[in-house]
Amino acid sequence: MRRKLAAGNWKMNGTSGSLTEADALAAAFAAPECDILLCPPATLIHRMSERLKDSAVMVGGQDCHMALSGAHTGDISAEMLTDAGASHVIVGHSERRADHCESDEMVRTKAETAHSQGLTAIICCGEALETREAGETLAHVGRQIAGSLPDGCTGDNTVVAYEPIWAIGTGKIPTLAEIGEVHDFIRAELVARFGAETGNAIRLLYGGSVKPGNASEIFAVSNVDGALVGGASLKAEDFGGIISALEGA
Ligand code: PEP
Repeated sequence: MRRKLAAGNWKMNGTSGSLTEADALAAAFAAPECDILLCPPATLIHRMSERLKDSAVMVGGQDCHMALSGAHTGDISAEMLTDAGASHVIVGHSERRADHCESDEMVRTKAETAHSQGLTAIICCGEALETREAGETLAHVGRQIAGSLPDGCTGDNTVVAYEPIWAIGTGKIPTLAEIGEVHDFIRAELVARFGAETGNAIRLLYGGSVKPGNASEIFAVSNVDGALVGGASLKAEDFGGIISALEGA
């Protein structure tokens, strides 16, 4: 049985005052029946991890550099994330792929670097609307999975998040059948590449406009092991509604 995971991505949102949302979440879920992760902006990682260190809520980064250290102004390394108290890092989010021209190869290197520092990499994939309309979603996601996951992936160090780009922040979601089709496909690809034990141990998250009101039906879809949540993770009450749905799934 894969333990479910609710991961929140605050993106470029949140300042010191937002830490009370993390406190409220930790207070509401002292002994959750699923894993809970918050990925705040880099400026809050250390303070949030200090505040949550005795709680069930884990803290992660939203990206890390491919290199361990060096002349990369403005970037953050995997070692810095670990040092700040992070246990996870998101890599290959579609916003990073678009805004920073990140290729599958770069994402794979980031995941390898994250693994080398003891971080669990949440590796994102997902198609644009044109790709879905052209009927090429599975081929596209298959290429991303093949290119973005390093050989050393295990159920402990890797989570895959399927996030259709057109569903992120838009309030639109694929049909449940479409979500199931992609998740079943990713599971089969993971099993084919890593073998049954590892391929079945890697958790698959759905991401894209998950809200308290649609979470339960999404979590009932096969091979959906939780969610990567953007906007609805900013408020403890909203994210709490999603986590409760996942606990009941
Ligand atoms: C995301 O960006 O990872 C995401 C899923 O965003 P939202 O939940 O706001 O659609």
